[in-house]
Amino acid sequence: MEAEISSAVDQAGRLVAESTYVVALCGAGVSVDSGVPTFRGPDGLWTRLGQPSTHSYQVFLADPAAWWRQYLSRDADPARAELRDAIARAQPNPAHHALVDLERMGVLRHTITQNVDGLHRKAGSASLIEMHGNRTMNRCISCEARWPREETVIGDYLPTCPFCAGLVKSDTVMFGEPVPRGVLARCREEVERSDCMLLVGTSATVMPAAMFPENVEARGGILIEINPEPTVLSDRADVVLRASAGVATPALARRLRELLGR
Ligand SMILES: [Zn+2]
Repeated sequence: MEAEISSAVDQAGRLVAESTYVVALCGAGVSVDSGVPTFRGPDGLWTRLGQPSTHSYQVFLADPAAWWRQYLSRDADPARAELRDAIARAQPNPAHHALVDLERMGVLRHTITQNVDGLHRKAGSASLIEMHGNRTMNRCISCEARWPREETVIGDYLPTCPFCAGLVKSDTVMFGEPVPRGVLARCREEVERSDCMLLVGTSATVMPAAMFPENVEARGGILIEINPEPTVLSDRADVVLRASAGVATPALARRLRELLGR
């Protein structure tokens, strides 16, 4: 690793070690090394195959049965099928494992991810919020219960919630759909407690995640950015690790292990 990065890792490690409640906010950059395609950018899924309707949630609500039939058909939506295949194959990479290491060291208290691929869960993150949902799960829009999708069979009837008989959708938060109330409340609790936030592979430009680093900063907390590209947060971060999540996150975890002797 270049000297410049290694000095930033050292600085970040010391700031993390002095903090009392470290929260990671993660985005698509964490899953790049797992082969999960990104949405935006030159090779992004939406750039190549078209962005979904910005009213996806309203389309779902207008005819949920039609939405489910299309969702489960491979031909109807190539972008969705490609993403589903990539996620089915994907395994956690060193960035996911390093976040689990930091959690087990007692350093990282919580991980909030915007990714829907379930890889943090697969890697073993215990204190985790998947704020945009998990593609392998279903969710009830009434009581917000979530469960694995496997048993969903769509014929001529719609799946209903086993707990309250409410309408069931994919857990993934759609365009036009608010983040579920309970999920957002838990995010806010974690953010309010945080005096140091790791911004890993995210530019945090999408609401409501964009508010989280602002909140930490406004209370005098530390922001540490891990991203190979500059973002709108770079100038505001106390330390920037200008490298991929798969390289910089394990380096930070190693440094913390040395500093704390754990
Ligand atoms: Zn329900």
